[in-house]
Amino acid sequence: MNVDLHCHTNLSDGALDPRVLVDLAVQRRVDMLAITDHDSIACYQQISRSTGDIQIITGIELSTTWRNRGIHIVGLNMDLENTGLLQGVNRQSRARAERSQKIAEKLQSFGFENCLAGAEKYTEGGQIGRPHFARYLVEIGAATNVQQAFKRYLGAGRAGDIKQQWADLEQVISWIRDAGGVAVLAHPTKYNMTRTKLSELLAEFVALGGEGMEVISGSQTPSVTQSMARLCQQFGLLASCGSDFHSPQQPWAALGKVPALPSHCVPVWSRWA
Ligand code: AMP
Ligand code: MN
Ligand code: MN
Ligand code: MN
Repeated sequence: MNVDLHCHTNLSDGALDPRVLVDLAVQRRVDMLAITDHDSIACYQQISRSTGDIQIITGIELSTTWRNRGIHIVGLNMDLENTGLLQGVNRQSRARAERSQKIAEKLQSFGFENCLAGAEKYTEGGQIGRPHFARYLVEIGAATNVQQAFKRYLGAGRAGDIKQQWADLEQVISWIRDAGGVAVLAHPTKYNMTRTKLSELLAEFVALGGEGMEVISGSQTPSVTQSMARLCQQFGLLASCGSDFHSPQQPWAALGKVPALPSHCVPVWSRWA
């Protein structure tokens, strides 16, 4: 079964319109898809979930912090009409708006003007995020590409990496669970944590009601997959997998090209399949 439970549309920092993304997933013979925009469920107003070609599971990627590190929690298979979830998404949207002003102020202190308006041009009306600032910094010549903009100004530990606004881990997990969903730790290898730190995070995540982790995120080596599968089993978690697709220009995160989970993993979709 071809499963992709992590990807982004242009309603957050992805390149494709939700309908175009679903068409691409169908073309790539994805059987089960969840779109997980950053702190947004707006894409589900634009797509039909009752298509015969593909099973669509509701999803979101919520931003939070743990010990002052930015962490992402994917919520899957939630009731999108749940009041607590809707209030949570609104709270995170306000946090994004406030954060974007602070990012703009930080960038201003480097002499870069009008960054908020500049970044907003790239959002297409969706959720604003650091990648939109990165594109503007490239536009004005402050960086030669998006990666460099992150490295200099927006990435972990840089001036524009503002993360105080997010709801805490306990809160985001409870929004997902109260809406009937499963909370999944996103891309555990992308936090630059030691195995010890990651285990501490997982222990706390499980204690707070987290139930899954991404054993596969984008393209990764088989040894990383085995290592994540071991952690997943150790903590008694359900295993998820997703491309973290943002754009067709990024072959390392290709929609619908996610390898199969190791056979000893309990897939997260055993919850609803
Ligand atoms: P935000 O949700 O606004 O904090 O932005 C985080 C997003 O920025 C991630 O989901 C990635 O899509 C992107 N991102 C994070 N780090 C980098 C990086 N070093 N280079 C390019 N894009 C990045
Ligand atoms: Mn992103
Ligand atoms: Mn993420
Ligand atoms: Mn993502």
